[in-house]
Amino acid sequence: MDDTRIQGVLPTIDLALQKKAKIVLASHLGRPGGKRREEFSLRPVAHHLSSLMKQDVDITEDCIGIQVEQKIQNLKPGQIILLENLRFHEGEISNDPNFSYQLGKWAQEYVNDAFGTAHRAHASTLGVPQLLGKGATGLLMERELDVLSKVMSDSEPPRVAILGGAKISDKIEVIDNFLGFADTILVGGGMAYTFLRALGKDVGKSIVERDKIGVARDLIESAKSRQVTLKFPIDHVIAEKCESGVNTEISEDTIPANWMGLDIGPRTIQEFGEEIRQARTVIWNGPLGVFEIEEFALGTLGIARLIANSDVFSVVGGGDSVAAVRKSNLHSQITHLCTGGGASLEFLAGKKLAGVEVLTRRGA
Ligand code: AMP
Repeated sequence: MDDTRIQGVLPTIDLALQKKAKIVLASHLGRPGGKRREEFSLRPVAHHLSSLMKQDVDITEDCIGIQVEQKIQNLKPGQIILLENLRFHEGEISNDPNFSYQLGKWAQEYVNDAFGTAHRAHASTLGVPQLLGKGATGLLMERELDVLSKVMSDSEPPRVAILGGAKISDKIEVIDNFLGFADTILVGGGMAYTFLRALGKDVGKSIVERDKIGVARDLIESAKSRQVTLKFPIDHVIAEKCESGVNTEISEDTIPANWMGLDIGPRTIQEFGEEIRQARTVIWNGPLGVFEIEEFALGTLGIARLIANSDVFSVVGGGDSVAAVRKSNLHSQITHLCTGGGASLEFLAGKKLAGVEVLTRRGA
């Protein structure tokens, strides 16, 4: 459906080809739950990669075992094979030492270019480089880490962070870390309602994490004392049900009982847009409404458009926000689209990424 991540690793494969490497690619698709399931086979990926690389990319029957090793032994410099889905084995996710050993014992070099799984301590991201005692970041991984580090430590102010998504519980540490770097944080999506509740507003039936109202209050206080402007929606697209075809209205400020806020309203888009126009750096993660439903997609698509049309250094992360940008065909106007939602959030929360920490060399 979307070959961004396949396209993303081509430069690293090209570099390895230039160096006359015998290339063995390892990857996963979906969540097959540790057993072989045909619908999660990487065959279509091998096929697509063959056409992108304009050379044959063979796929193995499995990712470990004698037959696989024989195929690897027979590889010639400049040839590429793809191992079948790593997650067909439980040992991948559990980082089983025996699986890591079988997966990587024949390798002479190890390059990790999977930023999307960089925060996972799996066999392919942690066990194998540990076993080999070495590993390098690929070019895509390198670029992702560089851009995110630059945003956090060396970007031009004013810096505006935009956060959306369903819940604040997933993003508390990110908001906390953003307080140390952003001048303004714009909050939308479902998570805004826990904050608005903490501010004593009526939010009707909107999604609220009651046990996080205290945390939201602390974050609001913390923003004040660190002189970071924290903005919330000032109007909302509301409905009585979260489904397509429902009757929607725009509500200012408070939301009537039995109605729920499902997108930011037009005045909020305008106000957030003003902040984006004045920014030099914008980082965005998470949709600002239930963008999967057309009636509630305008806020997310509007913000995507405002970022794309402004002259800022912009970084968009998270599957949903990236999808919104792609859907509107705006990707070429964004400075950097992250290929890893979870990994970028952990990075932005100031955490160390297991799959990066283990690597001994930066740059493929
Ligand atoms: P997350 O995985 O936390 O980034 O959340 C993404 C999800 O948040 C998407 O599926 C959106 O539909 C959902 N979402 C965004 N805004 C709202 C809202 N106001 N109420 C309920 N869900 C929302």
